[in-house]
Amino acid sequence: MESSNYDKPLPSIRVAVTETCNLRCDYCPTDGDSVEMQNGSLDTDGFEDMLTAAIDVGFTDFSFTGGEPLLSRRTADRTFQLARLVNDLRAEKGSDGYTKLNTNGANLLRYQDGVVSAGFDELKVSLDTLNPATFEELAKRNEKVFDATLQGILAVKDEVPVRLQTVVGKYNIDELPQMLDFCIAHGLDIKLFDISRYNNALAGSGNFADTNYVSLDAVSQMLEEQYGEPIIKFAVGGYGHAKKVFTSPEGTRIEIRDTSKSAQYSPDLCESCPNYMCQDGLCNLVIAADGHIRFCREGGAEQTIPTQNEHGIKSLDELRSDFMKAAGIFALAQSIERPIKPLRRLIPLTVIK
Ligand code: SF4
Ligand code: SF4
Repeated sequence: MESSNYDKPLPSIRVAVTETCNLRCDYCPTDGDSVEMQNGSLDTDGFEDMLTAAIDVGFTDFSFTGGEPLLSRRTADRTFQLARLVNDLRAEKGSDGYTKLNTNGANLLRYQDGVVSAGFDELKVSLDTLNPATFEELAKRNEKVFDATLQGILAVKDEVPVRLQTVVGKYNIDELPQMLDFCIAHGLDIKLFDISRYNNALAGSGNFADTNYVSLDAVSQMLEEQYGEPIIKFAVGGYGHAKKVFTSPEGTRIEIRDTSKSAQYSPDLCESCPNYMCQDGLCNLVIAADGHIRFCREGGAEQTIPTQNEHGIKSLDELRSDFMKAAGIFALAQSIERPIKPLRRLIPLTVIK
């Protein structure tokens, strides 16, 4: 069996099962992880080939995302089927790793049986507020959707660990104590993100970021006073930003991702990129909804390995080679120091259209 042959650890892979979402968050890229290069959508067999090739090469950690993976019965079933495949292939190889689901939770209640039986290690549920009016303002969806999201979280939390994913801005910073209390009361973890600036966002997130950005330094300081020194964590393989993780006495983990701190970049891939230094750096590989392998959310064609040719999706051997190539580019990222980024307000906004 081929293997990546790199002594550096491999990153995790985000699998965007669809480019479509049922919310319209102000700060979000128009199609989640599945940006640009869209060239039709990959069918379920194609996704299975991609995942089989990735696991053959040695990748072990997968998050299913979108768009919204629980968008419809069809996308939900596809997500569950692919999650089970990953779990089975990893079990056959006796390898460790994780299978997670990123969802906005709007349909969690509707598809809870499938979510629980698919074998996810964790559900990462995007939720920025406990206030329905703020939800409506941010996600452009009404109180009914908000209520369903909360009910969904509470319905599955005892079956699968849940972590809230909360983007912090001026619109919700005052709510953080209430959100932390909610997490502690219900046994949920929470990850706090500062606002990223995406070039293709729904509402022009450059403006959104400028208007709403708040530094997480004060939150971090407050948590340190309350819970003591955090542990420092990186994404799988040591990539991405240095994140702080605090633990409350009740066991709730509170993680902070601050994109103004250092991140991982690859010399070959990033130095010619118009977005260098971008907000996110190299955190994980993405299998986009069209099947192409992308190194990062904001890169363009040069940051993408096409996985289809004139006959459709490439052969398993070719896909394995593509993943090995991707692993090599990530390994290079570990050969340079993590650059400390300038303040985000000084990063020029380049608009890709
Ligand atoms: S942030 Fe998530 S839930 Fe909101 S629009 Fe984007 S993909 Fe959908
Ligand atoms: S957008 Fe991608 S290629 Fe460009 S600097 Fe960021 S991580 Fe590197």
